[in-house]
Amino acid sequence: MSFSSEVDHPAIRIRGLAKSYGDVPALCGIDLDIRRGQFFGLLGPNGAGKSTTIHILTGLVTFADGDVRVLGHDVVREYRLTRRQIGLAPQEFNFDRFFPVREILVLQAGYYGIPRREAGRRADELLERFGLSSKAGDKIWKLSGGMKRRLLIAKAMIHDPDILILDEPTAGVDVELRRALWVYLRKLNAEGKTILLTTHYIEEAEELCEEVAIIDRGRIVARGSPDELVQAGGERHLEIRLTAPPESLPEAVTSRDYFVEDDRVVIRVPHPRRIVAEVLNGLYAQDLKITEVRIKESSLEEVFVQLTGRTIDSGLGEPANGAADAEEPEEELHEV
Ligand code: ADP
Repeated sequence: MSFSSEVDHPAIRIRGLAKSYGDVPALCGIDLDIRRGQFFGLLGPNGAGKSTTIHILTGLVTFADGDVRVLGHDVVREYRLTRRQIGLAPQEFNFDRFFPVREILVLQAGYYGIPRREAGRRADELLERFGLSSKAGDKIWKLSGGMKRRLLIAKAMIHDPDILILDEPTAGVDVELRRALWVYLRKLNAEGKTILLTTHYIEEAEELCEEVAIIDRGRIVARGSPDELVQAGGERHLEIRLTAPPESLPEAVTSRDYFVEDDRVVIRVPHPRRIVAEVLNGLYAQDLKITEVRIKESSLEEVFVQLTGRTIDSGLGEPANGAADAEEPEEELHEV
């Protein structure tokens, strides 16, 4: 079968997807396009509908309404074909604790009809790339949490799919391990794999994803690059306090949108962090003494609260604590 026409199709295209479990609506008509080669994040709290979406993509869950395509193929009518294009790393570890690590991969290859010798070659290659070669003969229970996470991803890749779907790949993993996993994921994407991950870690979406869709109660409430979402989300500025009201200011300030209020200088720019050094140097050059520097940037977390009225960790139904009149979150850079 020729896949040449797939080049023209997005990796994933979802239209009008609706799904209920009995009376519980899980997805209320979502549309989603993910380009080939994209690193895409589905960001939402528990119960938002993330797992349901990816289980529909991988044929694990049926749905009532909508059209779901993988590389142009219908996930229901052409299930066998679409399933082969996707590697799924589920949220829960799905292997027998007493199985040896390498065998898990060889067995998985068998499900895709890959001959044993080729399966062994692929398993060794994947163990190598995920830093698990020295564990090849060990039983699963001997692996650390981070190693098991890597094995889950290796297993998802054994049939060399174009698209990797990762359901909360770093759930419950500490910050250091999470960052280590990100390195692997970035590399896979740089090599051309399309990656769709679900996460409720805002930082993960900001760090990894070119594009994010925020999903809440079965609806996609926003989508765009993390930068675009954040920029649409409100005021961003650099605020500097001086020891006294300034008589004059350097060009680094006056060439921008700014105002002065007593000893406070506020410069409104889309990326305040980027101008800190230039502005401070300008102020120092005019012998102005600085007592405090603050950056105000709305974060993806704030955007999420604005859109949904809840924090991402609050789960379903709980309103964000004082979402509407939350204190201005400001980041203190340093005090002099
Ligand atoms: P997420 O992955 O974002 O946490 P899910 O897709 O798991 O969200 O869940 C979406 C909604 O569907 C939630 O209200 C959840 O309780 C419900 N749900 C998910 N799976 C089932 C199931 N097997 N049976 C009944 N309800 C379910």
